[in-house]
Amino acid sequence: MAYKIEGECISCGTCAGTCPVEAISEGDGKYEINPDVCVECGACAGNCPVGAIVAP
Ligand code: SF4
Ligand code: SF4
Repeated sequence: MAYKIEGECISCGTCAGTCPVEAISEGDGKYEINPDVCVECGACAGNCPVGAIVAP
């Protein structure tokens, strides 16, 4: 399991710049977390301005 970005993402890009392992990239209409790369540190969730990132 990994952190997930839900529908409210406004594509601000903050999370991608926060992730230490570069697991987050811009997807189709919202950002996406690669579950194979995410190490579940939680940094992205704490920095999303709209609370779009949910813990596993
Ligand atoms: Fe990256 Fe950590 Fe967020 Fe996983 S939980 S996507 S490793 S910042
Ligand atoms: Fe989307 Fe939140 Fe990431 Fe911004 S920080 S791109 S709103 S998931």
